[in-house]
Amino acid sequence: MTQEKHTGHHGHSGSEVFIREWADGNTFNSFNNWKGLLYSASYEKIARMEVPVPIQARIDPTLKCPLSCEWCNSARYRKNKHELDTDHILSTLNFLSKWGVKAVVWAGGGEPTYHPHFQELLQRNAELGMDAAILSNGVIHNPEVAERIGQLCRWAGISIDAGTEETYIKAKGCATFKLAIDNIRTIVKNSRNCNVGYKFLISPVNQHELYTACKLAKDIGANDFVARPMDMKHQGMLNTKFKIEDLNVGFILKEFEKCHELESDDFHVYTVVHKFDKDLDHSKHFKQCYGAPLRIHIATDGAVYFCDDQYYQEKYKIGMHSPDPTNILSFWGKKKHRGLLYGNTPKQCKTRCCVGDYCIQCERLFVEDSDPMCMRYP
Ligand code: SF4
Ligand code: SF4
Repeated sequence: MTQEKHTGHHGHSGSEVFIREWADGNTFNSFNNWKGLLYSASYEKIARMEVPVPIQARIDPTLKCPLSCEWCNSARYRKNKHELDTDHILSTLNFLSKWGVKAVVWAGGGEPTYHPHFQELLQRNAELGMDAAILSNGVIHNPEVAERIGQLCRWAGISIDAGTEETYIKAKGCATFKLAIDNIRTIVKNSRNCNVGYKFLISPVNQHELYTACKLAKDIGANDFVARPMDMKHQGMLNTKFKIEDLNVGFILKEFEKCHELESDDFHVYTVVHKFDKDLDHSKHFKQCYGAPLRIHIATDGAVYFCDDQYYQEKYKIGMHSPDPTNILSFWGKKKHRGLLYGNTPKQCKTRCCVGDYCIQCERLFVEDSDPMCMRYP
């Protein structure tokens, strides 16, 4: 394994080798964590020790999933086979929209479209005026569901994680490659304003296929190809045989550059490494989890957890959204929530942090007094 240092366009480490994460003309994209500066009103509240209404809700409607990816972040919990009741999700959506939440992402420790009433849920999400998005593995058996995703979602991240059927089966344990690829085509065809991403989580099993997958993503009309290294230490993983040393970092970086050569106005490549350190392992450069309350996590077991990555752990459970979602108001921003938010939680957290750059922005720009950007001087 090479020991090259890297930084992304917006990395925080010193740079000896520059890693492009997106095209030069494509600065204002969804993967650029400087979009966190759009959330300054929330940061100001957090700095005053007021906990704001979250901007986004992640709803995990079911833990069912037909695949068995070795890197599955919820493998530890999926055996529980929980599923949220349809009426409960509908009333939760009502509550969230009245509360002021702007957008929902359908995700899961399972495949969200495996919820028997997923189409109805997506429809209600849109009717309530909240943006909708989905993280899916593309194993969608009803083509109508794929069509509705294209029509109603602002973005769809479809995890394929391979460039050929052979590697897909090795990585995900199921012969559904063609179905998932066809569903990307259907979502693209029905898109009104949906950014459709072909997602590729890099592991020792699929790393050799990055460029092949990127070419395929372009051929089938995806808007984006999104590659990032797997998190080998996530708390929800079970018995992975992968080791960080098995990633061939030098080779991966070369593949990234080849992928970027495929970019065009209609096809963007994102090689997202800014959450990782030089060996594609992850590190934290902040003291508090100030980014966590930008999102609320409606988990499948009826609980709300402190952040998207710390689900199903008692320590991080801040309350129950089930059976009555208005109960959220009784614990959001209250004692346990505040204890985790202002209590040096990152010191105890070993997981890759999805909101790490937001934590840094809030801490450096709004909590600390140094005003390094001279914010009153545009
Ligand atoms: S598709 Fe997602 S939920 Fe299903 S096994 Fe893979 S990582 Fe886990
Ligand atoms: S540092 Fe850990 S606990 Fe805090 S927001 Fe990030 S993943 Fe969650």
